Amino acid sequence: MLNTTMQSLGAAPSAIRTLFAYGAERKKVIGADKVFDYSIGNPSVPAPEEVGSALVELGQADPVAIHAYTQAAGDPDIRQRIADSLNRQHGTSYDASNLYLTCGAAAAISISLKAIIEPGDEIIVISPYFPEYRVWIETHGARIVEVPARLDNFEIDLPALEAAITAHTKAVIINTPNNPVGVVYSLENLQGLASVLTRKSEQNGRPIFLIADEPYRELVYGGREVPWVPSIYDNTIVCYSWSKCLSLPGERIGYVLVPPTATEHVALTQAVSGAGRALGFICAPALFQRIIERCVDLPADIATYERNRQILCDILDEFGYTYIEPQGAFYLWVKALEDDAQAFSDKAKEHELLLVPSDSFGVGGWVRLGYCIAEETIRNSREAFGALKRDYE
Ligand code: PLP
Repeated sequence: MLNTTMQSLGAAPSAIRTLFAYGAERKKVIGADKVFDYSIGNPSVPAPEEVGSALVELGQADPVAIHAYTQAAGDPDIRQRIADSLNRQHGTSYDASNLYLTCGAAAAISISLKAIIEPGDEIIVISPYFPEYRVWIETHGARIVEVPARLDNFEIDLPALEAAITAHTKAVIINTPNNPVGVVYSLENLQGLASVLTRKSEQNGRPIFLIADEPYRELVYGGREVPWVPSIYDNTIVCYSWSKCLSLPGERIGYVLVPPTATEHVALTQAVSGAGRALGFICAPALFQRIIERCVDLPADIATYERNRQILCDILDEFGYTYIEPQGAFYLWVKALEDDAQAFSDKAKEHELLLVPSDSFGVGGWVRLGYCIAEETIRNSREAFGALKRDYE
């Protein structure tokens, strides 16, 4: 009667959303200031003022034009503006035809997967990985293959990746800066990845695509550089969004970039359009296409997250927690104090600390803390971290 796979996806929301919903209820019961909710990646930095003024300006414009459908790929002038911005940053020569605007990175990844997956394909992810990858990969009919990250620095384990590639491998998904670990892959690591993929593509007689999921691209600490992946590997598909860097996660605006260097890029671009059509997207939100037209070159406000990160690291250091110091994004990957991450997360809840267990990211024994929350909440959670640690002594 129903598609039971869809039913079970709906009936059992992700661990992140489950904890987030629990937090919302708990705040009603004991007060928002008593719950230390590190569950979800909702930016705590307000969207830049320019977004607000662009909205006001657009509110005066002709409503028929402003709210109309755009081309499926997005307004061509706006896509050209985004291409120009990328060209200034990366020394590339993209144009509007290389971009397909989407409802955020989620739609961009889902569309990209739909565009390339054929029956029997395998898609490689680096674990720990963003849990929705599994949903999208399996929904579009491929098998997910998990390759654990290097344990010393959480970069891509190139020999392990090479060993996992088969004749069925269609793509590898990477995410840098990374959710949940906060690592930014080095140029060397990415160059190594490119040579593995080039070699294996030749052996397979067909390209292995690299899907670069980059919603955190601008969120890096200490002036670190995030290498531009299409300049390193030709068959890269970039999935981007303004959810995190401009704090617009509810507005659903991002893109798929198919660079002109990709093999048969015209056909691939058509497949991306076809996938967007098959999935019923019609076009990305028209109003926010116009907001991006005006705000595409704004810098991200990294200072707030950098301060939060420092405060949280100091607290974790004080009580002797083991964690990975983030180089980017706004998540901290902390070792659970027992092997069972779910049990540890449940124990943390007793102290009103909401920490996402690592299991749905594809590994056991860790928790993820999203520190895109009020600085005061982080400061106020100090006692709770201390009490949680004492529970294990
Ligand atoms: N990819 C990663 C790694 C994410 O963390 C997220 C959101 O948290 C997404 C994709 C989806 O982002 P968007 O809100 O742009 O769809």
